Amino acid sequence: MKSTCTLSRNQSKSAENKTSIENQEPAVLGTSYISMAQSSPTMMWITGPHNREFFINDHFLEFLGFPPSDAGFEFWKNAIHPKDRKNTFKRTDSSFEKKKPYKIEYRLRRYDDQYRWVMDNGAPQFDAEGNFIGYLRSLVDVHEIKELEHRKGQFITAASHELKTPVTSLKVYLHLIDEYINEHHLAPYTEYSHGAITQLNKITALIDQLLDLNRIQSSSLYFENTTFDFCELVDEVVKKMQLLHPQREITLQGDCSAQVFADYERLLQAIENLISNGIKYSAAKENGKVEVVMGEDTERVYLTVKDYGIGIAEKHLLKIFERFYRIPGKTEETFPGMGIGLYLTRKIIQKSGGEISVESDYGNFTEFTIKLPVSKDT
Ligand code: ADP
Repeated sequence: MKSTCTLSRNQSKSAENKTSIENQEPAVLGTSYISMAQSSPTMMWITGPHNREFFINDHFLEFLGFPPSDAGFEFWKNAIHPKDRKNTFKRTDSSFEKKKPYKIEYRLRRYDDQYRWVMDNGAPQFDAEGNFIGYLRSLVDVHEIKELEHRKGQFITAASHELKTPVTSLKVYLHLIDEYINEHHLAPYTEYSHGAITQLNKITALIDQLLDLNRIQSSSLYFENTTFDFCELVDEVVKKMQLLHPQREITLQGDCSAQVFADYERLLQAIENLISNGIKYSAAKENGKVEVVMGEDTERVYLTVKDYGIGIAEKHLLKIFERFYRIPGKTEETFPGMGIGLYLTRKIIQKSGGEISVESDYGNFTEFTIKLPVSKDT
């Protein structure tokens, strides 16, 4: 909530401060550049090659409560929430060193002492000769969006927990019915009960994905790492997926004997996601096989999962690992999904010290590759 009293006091300070901040290196800024920055609804500041500001627009000054003209940079540093400082400085300093763009979210204290979530974007600037001249930084107040996201997360967790209990009971009842059908040789009904169990398993998997998603958001996705044979795990996943999809061809090639240090169940889940996507997105194709290849070198084990399905256009390749990202399009939208699987898969691979990449030829094939470090303690 804005305090009118504070604002009017600060507004009078604005005029004094604004000119002195602009004056520090005015030659670099054109008048139209300044007026554009001043009329922008975004908080903007421009730093020189030594990461010191020489222009801060009014909107940003107003947010900070019009700090004294000589305190701009330090003021920003001190206004960051103590819990976010370390990470923010690490990220901005390292981008500054490499002269790379960055995007970071942190809490920043507003003029009324309220901490607000802001999204800080930094773009390095170069002159005509390619010399680095500083950063153009823009900050957007994303507090409301963050709060809505938080509430959405809470809702998803609550709804998933509420669903989990009846679904678990349903599973027990269905298994009892299935047993009864088997004992009494009621053959035609076996198919129905198996069908119901398969569908219920799909619902359980969806609920688990939603719960995992929220665990990631709240940093409580725990990993119990042990050392195990990577290829045995791949073998197990492929066998399991083949059993679940007997009508589809899943091939496994290659070999390895290396051990990895990771959470067995989580890694299994990640590989399962890749294979089930391969199966799903190639279902309508004539060549519906999914090829899994594994191997190793001295440092890493690797796995590729390739399908000959709908493929992914280049512009979507990086985005598919984002949360809830589903590729728009007539063909793509015919497949069910929530855009969570690859997000979770990437998190799991990263948490296991590995990396994941994707290659695709739209309309022809998609190939995911994961690489994981070999565990040296055998
Ligand atoms: P979803 O539940 O929607 O499949 P994912 O996170 O697993 O969610 O995948 C994100 C998006 O990436 C999918 O919606 C789909 O558009 C695309 N995608 C993933 N795997 C494949 C694949 N093997 N072939 C084609 N598109 C894929």
